[in-house]
Amino acid sequence: MNQIIEFFGGLFDTDMWPPRWRCGYWSDFHGWLYIISDLLIWASYFLIPLIILNYFSKKKNQLKFNKAYIYFAAFIVLCGCTHFIDAIMFWVPMYRLNTIVRFVTAIISLMTVYHLIKILPEAFSQKTNAELEAEIQKRLAVEQKLQEANFGLQSFASMASHDLQEPLRKMRFFTSILDEKAKGKVDESTYEYVNKIEKAAERMQILIEDLLSLSSIDNNIELTPTDTNQSVRNAIDDLELPIRLQNAEINTSSLPMVNGNEAYLTQLFLNLISNALKFNSERPIINISGEKNGQHVIIRVEDNGIGIEEKNHKKIFESFLRLHSKSAYAGTGIGLSICKSIVEVHKGSIEVESEIGKGSTFIIKLEAAE
Ligand code: ADP
Repeated sequence: MNQIIEFFGGLFDTDMWPPRWRCGYWSDFHGWLYIISDLLIWASYFLIPLIILNYFSKKKNQLKFNKAYIYFAAFIVLCGCTHFIDAIMFWVPMYRLNTIVRFVTAIISLMTVYHLIKILPEAFSQKTNAELEAEIQKRLAVEQKLQEANFGLQSFASMASHDLQEPLRKMRFFTSILDEKAKGKVDESTYEYVNKIEKAAERMQILIEDLLSLSSIDNNIELTPTDTNQSVRNAIDDLELPIRLQNAEINTSSLPMVNGNEAYLTQLFLNLISNALKFNSERPIINISGEKNGQHVIIRVEDNGIGIEEKNHKKIFESFLRLHSKSAYAGTGIGLSICKSIVEVHKGSIEVESEIGKGSTFIIKLEAAE
């Protein structure tokens, strides 16, 4: 006990030992080589933790094994201190302080070893950079194959739709002749069958045309600075007849330029405005507005129509999804998936905000023109 009290009482005492220079025989060369090496080790052991801590503070949120960095930094700092004191001992023989620093270093070293052993299994399960790189390459290869498959599928759909149009046109032509010839000559139910065939053929033609538009959207189209106002005007011109028939009010404000393709954007607005006209039980009022928000342009197409239940807000962008029977509202369920493909080609997004009976607002995010 006495020894312990004496030890801590004289922690900085130096008078019980000779300075290291006078302890044995040191040539100048030997002594200074020892001192300079110790000081260099100390300087490096001081800088290494600073570099580790700097790295740690910048990447803290992305790093695993955060504690290991701290332990390791403390371990190195303390190792450095033992070398520093060793060099100082040539003049100031604080053997007790030296012992304490070594003891603390020993404790921290053991804690570091314990922590490293603890995290070892998890550390081994981590992927190395080479493994991650290999995984990325594998994924890129799969993506490339998927792209090729998509391209194949697209050209198949486009060819099939083209080829289907021809026999369908013939069907429609001959059913219309049959309709004329049958009128008044066959009984009512037979005439109704002919009518049904005609209607089904017409619907099929619309479906094929929509499929053709969907499959012919080119993912690699060049995007150039485009005036969205012009695309809106084109769409409104195309929809002149239904707009007039429904006495619809369309309000547009000036829209910012985007990085885009005018024909595709016209198609986008055409689909959205025609839906706003169609899914409406009152006099349609449609507001189209837009603003620049940083690198993006946000465009809103708002209507006073029947609205969409929240659970369907995502679903409506899927192909062939329709929320109503074709007798209530005509359509193929492809219009909004065309819109989605178009905004994706533009590296943008589309979503809807809507409540049943309170209208819908389609929000489109596109890249602003530079
Ligand atoms: P289609 O119009 O041919 O039915 P869409 O893909 O354009 O197909 O739309 C999918 C479904 O989303 C529609 O059947 C309709 O139920 C709903 N919908 C789309 N636009 C609106 C709108 N403006 N207001 C209310 N419902 C809409």
